[in-house]
Amino acid sequence: MLARRLAYEKSLARPARCFEGKRALLFILLLAFGLAGCKTGPTAPTNSNSNQSTASAPTPTTAPATPQPQAQATTFDGQRAFDHVRKQVDFGPRPAGSTELAMARDYIIGELKSYGLNVTTDEWTATTPVGARKMVNVTATLAGESEDAIMLSSHYDTKLYKKFRFVGANDGGSSTGALLEMARVLAANNPKPKFTYRFVFFDGEEAFCEGWDQCKNPDGPDNTYGSRRYVAQLQKQNELPRLRAMILLDMIGYSNLMFGRDEELSTPWLVDAVWQTARELGYGKNFVNLPESVGGDDHKPFHDAGVTCMDIIQLENYPYWHTEDDTLDKISPQSLKIVGDVVLGSLPRIEQKLLSGKTM
Ligand SMILES: [Zn+2]
Repeated sequence: MLARRLAYEKSLARPARCFEGKRALLFILLLAFGLAGCKTGPTAPTNSNSNQSTASAPTPTTAPATPQPQAQATTFDGQRAFDHVRKQVDFGPRPAGSTELAMARDYIIGELKSYGLNVTTDEWTATTPVGARKMVNVTATLAGESEDAIMLSSHYDTKLYKKFRFVGANDGGSSTGALLEMARVLAANNPKPKFTYRFVFFDGEEAFCEGWDQCKNPDGPDNTYGSRRYVAQLQKQNELPRLRAMILLDMIGYSNLMFGRDEELSTPWLVDAVWQTARELGYGKNFVNLPESVGGDDHKPFHDAGVTCMDIIQLENYPYWHTEDDTLDKISPQSLKIVGDVVLGSLPRIEQKLLSGKTM
């Protein structure tokens, strides 16, 4: 694949504080409810000290139904995801090894940690056509009942251009913003999912040379540095068999949203699971049954290693791909939400398929 990704951004500080505020408020309400239950007896309030014991004694401690904090599920917030894209775009162009990408990375890590996720980084020095570049993959883990894992992923770098300012709102920004929001929602709703979930942000997806295959390095191609590194690390640690499915998001925020199916490298049953969910949610017009020409992307190293994988990408009909016009105004919170809802909605179906073993 050549290019895509978005950058969304928006200060999470405010939404995060708001979220914390809501949780604090819920706690206070629960506390108040509990105290009220203890204090308030079945009889009318009395102002006599002598009545206090009689008022409280007959009140079963279990009388008031215990409020269940899980009453309300957290849903994917398209505006939050969009704010993440804006934030990334505000950092500026974010090619691998740049100060701007380091700032974006710090932002991503801060967000993930605020969701209560365990965050790890893997830093290495890559040989590229423009010299040695420091790169960092970021992984947030939501531990499940099983160590078998499902990966949701995006690249967070943007393509290096010197002739114009490339901020990659869709190409790098959109998928990164949506992935952050998916991580927040999954962590909030599923403290212990069946499978372990890994939210992975790949560095160095983009080629440094203009063309995807234009240049090569002594140790490999000039693209997908982060995903190739990730697969190699899993193989080295003998953990690759634990990775049961890998879903890649790339360029998923265009306001005129329409995905075709990657039929070259993506696993058909996994694509079917997502496309079926999209139809059921009423998004059949956004996930169409036409082929999408991808060429190569961060799922390829996983595909080549035998991992069940798929790429959700809008490349062919995104006219601003790898241009200075890949800017925030091309992205919409609604598109991000569609993708977020579809991917999150497809996970139970994917889990069920993996558990049943009928994945062929
Ligand atoms: Zn790109």
